[in-house]
Amino acid sequence: MQQKWSAVDEYLVQKLIPQDEVLEQVLANNQRAGLPAIDVSPMQGQLLALLVRMVRARRILEIGTLGGYSTLWMARELPVNGELLTLEAEPLHAAIARENLHFAGVANLVTVAEGPALQTLESLGERPPFDLIFIDADKPNNPSYLKWALHYSRPGTLIIGDNVVRNGEVTNPTTTDASVQGVRKFIDMLGNDPRLTVTAMQTVGMKGWDGFTLAWVNAI
Ligand code: SAM
Repeated sequence: MQQKWSAVDEYLVQKLIPQDEVLEQVLANNQRAGLPAIDVSPMQGQLLALLVRMVRARRILEIGTLGGYSTLWMARELPVNGELLTLEAEPLHAAIARENLHFAGVANLVTVAEGPALQTLESLGERPPFDLIFIDADKPNNPSYLKWALHYSRPGTLIIGDNVVRNGEVTNPTTTDASVQGVRKFIDMLGNDPRLTVTAMQTVGMKGWDGFTLAWVNAI
């Protein structure tokens, strides 16, 4: 099935998403630098961009930068006074992301904070809430990322969690995979929190079988 999923993704990208040499160059830079190809797909990137546009986000938090591909999709939708803070533990990933974001002309809107995301989140202190938060780093820490995401939210913040289906393993209650365990706890927390309205979508495509959660903060 993977071949067919990829073919459909490629068809849809070709039909729906304008060719973009900057985004393509960013992926090429990531590959040349040896970064893993675990960025969002173009269709997912466009979805992130649309979500930023729909909620009129001015302040965005991203947890998990890699080479800044998803960062760029979102940053391009920000107004001139917008801000995107993205958190990345790996120095090489952070360095490539900074180069890419500079090359793409959005560096003035984006801060790449290098270091373990939990440490950065603890150190942010008092600040205005974020309008949109994209959680896409190490999945065992997803429950903690959700706690911090809520801490930095307001009613109307949109919290997106990527890679929550994991080839269907998310339904396995006896899993020993720490990423799946993290995602399962994350989903339990989302589902049990009366402050949130949540959905999840399964996806197939060039990145395999996975999915994401979308959580709207009703109240804090
Ligand atoms: N959002 C990126 C995109 O779509 O282009 C992909 C992010 S990739 C799936 C996950 C990233 O999270 C990796 O670059 C990894 O180094 C980073 N990461 C893993 N553990 C982390 C941690 N504890 N703190 C911050 N970043 C972390």
